Amino acid sequence: MPALTPKIALEEHFMHPDFVDYWAKTAVNISPALFGKAREALEDFGEQRLAAMERIGIEKSILSLAGPGVQAEKRTDTATRRARQINDFLANEISKQPDRYGGFAHLAMQDPAAAADELERCVRELGMQGAMINGQTGGTYLDDDRYAPFWERVSDLQVPVYIHPNNPAEQVQMYNDHPELWGPVWSWTVETATHALRLVFSGTFDRYPGARLVLGHLGETLPYLLWRLDSRWEISNRGGMRLQMKPSDYFKRNIWMTTSGMCADAPLRCALDMVGDTRIMFSVDYPFERPEEAGDWIEAAPLSNEERRKICRDNAATLLNI
Ligand code: MN
Repeated sequence: MPALTPKIALEEHFMHPDFVDYWAKTAVNISPALFGKAREALEDFGEQRLAAMERIGIEKSILSLAGPGVQAEKRTDTATRRARQINDFLANEISKQPDRYGGFAHLAMQDPAAAADELERCVRELGMQGAMINGQTGGTYLDDDRYAPFWERVSDLQVPVYIHPNNPAEQVQMYNDHPELWGPVWSWTVETATHALRLVFSGTFDRYPGARLVLGHLGETLPYLLWRLDSRWEISNRGGMRLQMKPSDYFKRNIWMTTSGMCADAPLRCALDMVGDTRIMFSVDYPFERPEEAGDWIEAAPLSNEERRKICRDNAATLLNI
């Protein structure tokens, strides 16, 4: 068997017993049998996780709390306090395996200024690589004006913000009588792709040209749609909105994507052809995707050796400054 390509993985989750109550809100999306098994894997930072990384050649996993975390908290002060608490916990776990683990800050987006401060603390003092944000917070998205101080700090720190899927704040009619569509099968994709497009079309990346956004699941279907986004934007009722570039151009400057939970050759080739080979990064979505599924797939995917090296490790090392 040929040697494994060295990898950095970016959508690798953990859990802490005190945060299971928030996570349990997502249980509705997952089969009960998987939920129990996932919790055990999520709370392990030792043998089980490291062995899984070893088996598929992951040198370093950037860990993040399984969502939605404190973004589901009703009290803002509680959310801010508990975000600090879980970031301190993660930093302590990373310090036990500093070569193998990195971290994305968990942030209470209910208070944008406090979230910016906490991101800075996590990056500068705790050595984390960026932040993971679990979709909307109380129905508010990251293009909202209130997040200007947050994007300013993200730009200053030059770290990526990973938008992890979550459901919309309210269930909409099109999902009525279809619980299977509510969650990772479909509604997460619609929600997260829409969140990213809100950032593009609001001009957030014109105001913060250095901002770096990461999407999972090979870009939440968006690479497939870029030509149409450009073409229909031209003729849409823009309500006076202007952009400095074509919508697709932001996907080549401000947006990166991972292969988390998407192990299929054709969408990978589509993403490569549409956004280039420097913006796509391997991830597993541990433990919700089997490491072997993701690892065996990327090793055999129809890529040049250079593309495989970039996707598995080099693109992440550049983006995360590792
Ligand atoms: Mn995930």
